[in-house]
Amino acid sequence: MSSGEVVLRAESVSKTFRAGRGFFRGGGLHAVSGFSLDLVRERVVALVGESGSGKSTAARLLAGLYAPTSGAITLAGRRVSVRAPGARRRYASHVQIVLQDPFSSLNASYSIRHHLARPLLLHGNAGSGKRADVEARSAALLEEVSLTPGRDFLDRYPHELSGGQRQRVSIARALAVRPEVMLADEPVSMLDVSIRLGILRLLGRLTAERRLALLYITHDIASARYFATEIAVMYAGEMVEYGPSEDVTQAPLHPYSRLLVSTVPDPDRAAGRGSDTLVRGEPPDLTRRLAGCTFAPRCPFAMDRCRQQAPPRFEPSGGHWVRCWLFDEQEA
Ligand code: SF4
Repeated sequence: MSSGEVVLRAESVSKTFRAGRGFFRGGGLHAVSGFSLDLVRERVVALVGESGSGKSTAARLLAGLYAPTSGAITLAGRRVSVRAPGARRRYASHVQIVLQDPFSSLNASYSIRHHLARPLLLHGNAGSGKRADVEARSAALLEEVSLTPGRDFLDRYPHELSGGQRQRVSIARALAVRPEVMLADEPVSMLDVSIRLGILRLLGRLTAERRLALLYITHDIASARYFATEIAVMYAGEMVEYGPSEDVTQAPLHPYSRLLVSTVPDPDRAAGRGSDTLVRGEPPDLTRRLAGCTFAPRCPFAMDRCRQQAPPRFEPSGGHWVRCWLFDEQEA
């Protein structure tokens, strides 16, 4: 694949969780609806939204941990199915996920040596497979994530490392399979503020050096602006805005995006922009499908039409689209 080529694509992917009869009103919890996104080699896309917006479910769908209820995920143009025996492991050799909590994502019973040797051997990246070869490759992975000298970390256990070091080990473990796509689900939100930037810089460097397609999932739109080339904003399981990071953060279109941006202090932003839509309220109940726009109960601009018809995509400027009736030129 050449630079700029789509590696992983989600097309109209939806996920509804069902439980026993009557557990979810309305027949299920509609965690993700009509999710479409391209992940491109050497580019970082940020998926931004508050807790419960569906962004982590979207990441797990892309990682093959959940099967979509409808829609398709394609890897290098081929439709993904992880149901067949061995298919999950084959898919994981292309797509890796790094989870939020570096404390629980590593097994406290095993050394760092074990955490790295296992994926190297399982995915056939351990050279001869002999101990010396596995050790050299494990140490090299640790040095790639700036844990140096790598051999000094091999016989340590997760509890002997700081949170930042553990997250670096999680990233090294993901790299052991030589993935093309990395899904980083809130990778810095549980770390001290002082070490977050270092982890984001590491992910940025690896995206370039390893030629990865990276999805950065976060509730922090300020870090998304710093780190990502494009930002997708999710609300109530739906993507409501997408565009270049600068455009989405400096001139957000959707009232929900403006709400997210307005909570971030930013001296560069034009005075007053974003502060006009300081809306409040709770995220919606995902067990109930609303007829119109899912943001209508919280939106200060809601019109009758918003409560009756879900808005389609409008693209007021190239590559920057929004789902909001305010941008319907015919209406204007
Ligand atoms: Fe607000 Fe209507 Fe736009 Fe929804 S479609 S965000 S309710 S103005």
